[in-house]
Amino acid sequence: MIERSAAEIQQILQNQRTYFASQETKALPFRMEQLKKLKTGIKRHEQEVIDALALDLGKSELESYTTEIGILYEEINFTIKHLKSWVKPKKVKTALTHVGSKGYVIPEPYGAVLVVAPWNYPFQLALSPLIGAIAAGNTAVIKPSELTPNVSGILANLLQELYPPSYVSIIEGGVQTSQALLEERFDYIFFTGSPAVGKVVMEAASRHLTPVTLELGGKSPVIVHEDANIPLAAKRIVFGKFMNAGQTCIAPDYLLVHSKIKAPLIKAMKEVIQTFYGSDPTENPAYSKIVNERHYNRLSGYLKDGTVIYGGKRNDSKQKIAPTLLDSVKLDSPLMTEEIFGPIFPVLEYTSLEEAIELIHSRPKPLALYVFTQDKDTAAEVTGRISFGGGCINDTLMHIATPFLPFGGVGESGMGNYHGKASFETFSHHKSVLQQTNRFDFSFRYPSAKNGLKLV
Ligand code: NAD
Repeated sequence: MIERSAAEIQQILQNQRTYFASQETKALPFRMEQLKKLKTGIKRHEQEVIDALALDLGKSELESYTTEIGILYEEINFTIKHLKSWVKPKKVKTALTHVGSKGYVIPEPYGAVLVVAPWNYPFQLALSPLIGAIAAGNTAVIKPSELTPNVSGILANLLQELYPPSYVSIIEGGVQTSQALLEERFDYIFFTGSPAVGKVVMEAASRHLTPVTLELGGKSPVIVHEDANIPLAAKRIVFGKFMNAGQTCIAPDYLLVHSKIKAPLIKAMKEVIQTFYGSDPTENPAYSKIVNERHYNRLSGYLKDGTVIYGGKRNDSKQKIAPTLLDSVKLDSPLMTEEIFGPIFPVLEYTSLEEAIELIHSRPKPLALYVFTQDKDTAAEVTGRISFGGGCINDTLMHIATPFLPFGGVGESGMGNYHGKASFETFSHHKSVLQQTNRFDFSFRYPSAKNGLKLV
């Protein structure tokens, strides 16, 4: 593991500043080349990435490919396709008071940016922000999660192979390393992780007035209304909740189901879990493990905050918890006040939509929200009245996987967004420039001048 002392971190940052000042990172062909390099580099190491994800998280090959590797190829391809138009200065309208002049908004890179990543999608969440940083013309320092050491090692090999550290540097390590990095004055910080650490990051950034994007988490509800298509809802909810054993920032955290359809929905979800993961998911190699013992014990503790109506089986040696449905949950228990981030799904019922909306309103703004209904007005009411980062109507997770939808949180679930063009925008400062005419000059703008237009 490549950990660094404070002096080494300062040297790396200094080298990046010098390199950034050379202007090389700003040239469009340079950016394009680095993005292409990233893609071929990932391709070269694909199998190692899959193996490391299996070791760190017990991820299946299919899941590793779709949620960690393939999604990066899509993002790189999309960025390469559109970058030429994104980098162009955008001409804007001229105000009447500014006749004769022209206005431009010119995207420029911030400089040296810091990316701090979490462990749940440890490969993708370290590299996806890097795509935006490179596209916008920055240099970057990447700090992967220490909880997924095999993936961290692969990232280190890959990035060192592809880029000089004066351009892209990887600094492995845990909390201390992260804190040492946050002591430095970066030009932008992109953080993905928990709301608690997000506050630490923002506080540190404020000391240098460094702008931040905070991609955080929280409790994302899924509402299933009485008119929902039950078999489809069951399939799509189980898919979103138990992928990566629930260790997904936008996984449905808890279910709010209309009392009229609670029984058939639960029955359908049980059948889907059985079809997806078999009768003993803890023995299924395609079902992820819990990242470490601390989280395994934390999640095991939640099982007592309700009545297990399906699942509940644990496998200590494999560190796996079967997909679990919990009924009769206590609203003030840790299960319902903390982000679950695991394969435990509390089921709450409501009789009027108002009740469900009020419950969500009484809690911090969620990162994601999902509503299943066949009625446009119900969907519009839910998406219109509740503030949340992003979400889906009649699906889960899928909003994260399209480059056309900016992805991010709101309130306690984060600030700023990325993916596709939004990534480029996030890592760019938008510089406004007014180009004035010299053909004439309005004397009335000057102190003690006579009115009128003067040709010069
Ligand atoms: P975390 O906040 O514990 O750690 C994230 C990163 O911050 C790691 O690299 C870690 O080393 C570093 N870190 C930890 N404590 C620190 C401290 N005191 N000071 C400075 N740096 C510190 O988060 P995690 O456990 O890795 O990830 C889980 C959380 O991330 C969940 O809340 C989840 O919802 C959220 N998440 C959000 C997104 C998103 O896109 N919004 C994606 C994935 C995960």
